[in-house]
Amino acid sequence: SVLVIQPDTIIADEPTTLLDLRHRDALLERLDALLAAGFLTVPVAAQAHDELTGLPNRRYFFQQLDDLIQTSARDGTRFALAIFDIDHFKTINDSIGHLGGDYILQRFADILVSQTRSMDVVARFGGEEFIVVFSAVEHGDVRQFVQRILEAVHEERFVFNDKDIPVTVSAGVAGIEEFVDQPATPDALIAGADDRLYLAKQAGRDCLVDASGTLRI
Ligand code: GH3
Ligand code: MG
Ligand code: MG
Repeated sequence: SVLVIQPDTIIADEPTTLLDLRHRDALLERLDALLAAGFLTVPVAAQAHDELTGLPNRRYFFQQLDDLIQTSARDGTRFALAIFDIDHFKTINDSIGHLGGDYILQRFADILVSQTRSMDVVARFGGEEFIVVFSAVEHGDVRQFVQRILEAVHEERFVFNDKDIPVTVSAGVAGIEEFVDQPATPDALIAGADDRLYLAKQAGRDCLVDASGTLRI
C-alpha cells in the first residue's frame, strides 16, 4: 500500500510535520529518498521536483529563495539569481519534435547541475527556462559562473537521432546587492533577472546581461 503525504501529515518517528520549517530540508531529503524508492506518493500539488529534469520545480524554488532572502537580510550574505532561457527552442522542437526538445532540456539541466556548486540552487522555472541562485558570491564571480555555463553549452554536442542540434542560451542576472532602495522580494529579484534576460534576447541571444552590461562568449 502507498502512503499519501499531505503538507500537514505527521511523519512517523519525526516529531514534526512538513509545515515545521526547522526540519524541512532534512525531511524533504528523506521524503525524496522514500519517493525514489517507490514507498510513497505525493499529491501533484505538493511535489517539489520536475519530472522531466529531476530539478526542483518553481514552487520549491520560491521557498528556497524566500529562505535565502531572509538569511541575507539577517547576516548580509550575498547571492545572485540568473534566469537561463534556451534560444529559439520552438525551432528546436520543430526540427526534432517534442521528445527531442525534452532531451535537450534534460541535457541542459545536466549542464547546469555539473557547472554549479552544491550550495547553489538549480531549478526548472517552467518550459525552457531555468533558474540558478548562486549562493554567497561577490558580483564579479557570478558573471564568471554564468559565462562558464554559456561556454559549457557551446562546448557540448547535442545530438538527437543522429542529428546535430545547435543549442545556445541567453541569461539575465540580478544580485541581491542591487536592492538597497527597495525591499528584495522573490518577485522583484526574478523581475530584475527577467528584464535582463529580455535585453540578452534583444542583443541577439547567446549572451548574458548583468548589472555591468552584456557579455558575449
Ligand atoms: P527565444 O529565443 O525568444 O527564447 O525563443 P523560443 O522559441 O525559445 O521561445 P518561446 O518562449 O516562444 O518558445 C518556447 C517553447 O518551448 C514553446 C513550447 O512549446 C516549448 N516548451 C515548453 N515546455 C516544453 C517541454 O517541456 N518540452 C518541450 N519539448 N518543449 C517545451
Ligand atoms: Mg522562454
Ligand atoms: Mg526560449
